[in-house]
Amino acid sequence: MSTSIYSGPVFAMARQQFAQVADHLQILEMDRDRLLYPKRAVAVSCPIHRDDGRTEVFQGYRVQHHLTLGPTKGGTRFATSVDIGEVAALAIWMSWKCALAGLPYGGAKGGITVDPYALSPRELEGLSRRYMQEMIPFVGPHTDVMAPDMGTNEQVMAWFMDTYSMYQGQTINEIVTGKPVSAGGTLGRREATGRGVAYLVGRALDHLGIRADRATAIIQGFGNVGSVTAYCLAERGVKIVGVCDHTAAYHDPAGLNVAGLQRHMAKNGQLAGFSAQGLIEPAELLLRKCDVLVPAAIEQVITGENAPRLQCRILAEGANGPTTPEADAVLQQRGDEIFVLPDILCNAGGVIVSYFEWVQDLQRLFWEETEVFDRLYRILERSFQQTIARAKRDRISHRMAAMAIGVSVVQSAKQTRGLFP
Ligand code: NAD
Repeated sequence: MSTSIYSGPVFAMARQQFAQVADHLQILEMDRDRLLYPKRAVAVSCPIHRDDGRTEVFQGYRVQHHLTLGPTKGGTRFATSVDIGEVAALAIWMSWKCALAGLPYGGAKGGITVDPYALSPRELEGLSRRYMQEMIPFVGPHTDVMAPDMGTNEQVMAWFMDTYSMYQGQTINEIVTGKPVSAGGTLGRREATGRGVAYLVGRALDHLGIRADRATAIIQGFGNVGSVTAYCLAERGVKIVGVCDHTAAYHDPAGLNVAGLQRHMAKNGQLAGFSAQGLIEPAELLLRKCDVLVPAAIEQVITGENAPRLQCRILAEGANGPTTPEADAVLQQRGDEIFVLPDILCNAGGVIVSYFEWVQDLQRLFWEETEVFDRLYRILERSFQQTIARAKRDRISHRMAAMAIGVSVVQSAKQTRGLFP
């Protein structure tokens, strides 16, 4: 495609990764744009009344990557970084992620360009409801199913579901996943991404012959993914020696008190103020020695500049797109020094349990928590094994292997169905 509306560094990264995997898979030039470029994109204006009486308009987006395997599925991000290019990249990554996990979905993503921390609860509710109301013509339980992402949570999903349902005149739980259990959510969804990250870190530690109770971890981001990952790793005996969020970074080689950090977060909503000791520069934290480094916040934090200086054994990508292609090249050069759990494998727990939630909502039949996690770990185990085996067979990185599996699934579905979806 010679011109498109998608641009910016995150989209460029998704495109560059795809070009590499397409070369590896020897996908014909004429088939590449059809696989890469989203099926549809919607931009909406969301006006709300601010608490001070002003009216303010926020820009929202939704990108649906492909409808070849079923409805699209993907999170909703409220952040100042949100633009159409970032949302499209995240939708594309969701497609490869769902295909790798064997879920019957294409990828989607949405978001609003806003600082959610600067909104009052009433303003956040107004904006969430208005966004969903603008999206009603474009989403549906069998066309596009939303979920949480950075800056959104269970409460926002409940507002989405309620707004959509009131418009339809009946409760449609299956329009959104990541809802509270009281609004038709599934047991285990809130913890699913972090639990999945911890499960795969456990498998990587086994693979490398490192005992969990002798391992250390550093986690960037202490929201849904980061805080649950910290808790689950600590439960497995891993010592958490560093954490940070957008307000503060802490490092303590003797180990941080994860339960204390979680209590502080629940009360204050941010890490700043947790302690006067152990404060460290956030950029410095990623470079400290540890067995497991978990970026669980934003994109492009592992770069060509800091990748040569990482001192971890395992890079577990809780976030989407934390590692740039330049950093990937450095990690490749470093050979077996760093075992990468690529994002589309590592953080797939969220969408897998979202899929379980959708299935349960459609059937009106709800599962025990043990069933949710047993099924989750089975899928993650299969994806982990497939990725490792493919990387070994083709002598490629784990990221290339995971993407090659995902892209091939979408490519063969497109080949068999034809040009429409
Ligand atoms: P969240 O909003 O709950 O938490 C984000 C965290 O990142 C917060 O602690 C925030 O303070 C921190 N953060 C933001 N900017 C930062 C910066 N510059 N430096 C350090 N920390 C910063 O979001 P989340 O749902 O935990 O999502 C985190 C990442 O995981 C995103 O990349 C998201 O796309 C990805 N992800 C989330 C899910 C899910 O189920 N929530 C699933 C798969 C992937």
